[in-house]
Formats: sequence, structure tokens, C-alpha cells
Amino acid sequence: MAWMLPTIIRNLFSRPATRRYPFKDIREPSPGYRGKIYLDPNKCDLSGDCARVCPSAAIEVSLENRQWTYHPFRCVYCGACMQICPQRAITQDKHYTRPAVAKGIEVVDVPL
Ligand code: SF4
Repeated sequence: MAWMLPTIIRNLFSRPATRRYPFKDIREPSPGYRGKIYLDPNKCDLSGDCARVCPSAAIEVSLENRQWTYHPFRCVYCGACMQICPQRAITQDKHYTRPAVAKGIEVVDVPL
């Protein structure tokens, strides 16, 4: 134990090695960072291409209910849905996603 004493003392008086995310020192994301996705319901034609290419089944499209459903906790931020969308209705956030305190889904009503 005594051999650890210098390390313990040095660490007690040095700056922390980690950041207090998300409370302090939030860095700008690197170029090309891919974040959470958003749907513009006014552009969406409910083709379902996004749901078909999603590798993690994070998107569901219901033609009957005219709803687009997104499961953020399944999403791996690959961007495949954004690239395949012929209407360019999906965009990806360029900022870090804040930590969530509860799991939830996002349901977007798509107008006629
Ligand atoms: S970014 Fe990738 S994982 Fe997330 S919803 Fe789109 S296709 Fe699915």
C-alpha cells in the first residue's frame, strides 16, 4: 500500500482526468459527427425506405395511422435512413445528445 502513496497524493492535488459532462466543458463535436435524427413531417411521404434500411429497427412507419415512430435508444446513428430518404425529410443533429433519464419513443404525425 505504501508504494501507492505518491500516486494518491499526486492525484489529490491534480486536475481531474475526466470532464463533468454534461455540466461543464462540453466540447464541440468533431467534423462529420453524426447525432440524433429528426424528421420533417411536411417533407415525408411515408415511403418506409428509412425503416427498411435501418439496421437496428429504430424506425417504424405506419401508413394507416400516418405516423413515423423513432426509437432513439435503438438508433446507432449510422445515417442510413437520412441517405436513403428520397424526400430529404430526415436530418441528423450535429451536436452531442444529452443523456436521457428515461427511455422513450418519438411519434411524428405526418400530414396528408
Ligand atoms: S441513423 Fe441508422 S440506426 Fe438510427 S434510425 Fe437511422 S438508419 Fe436507424
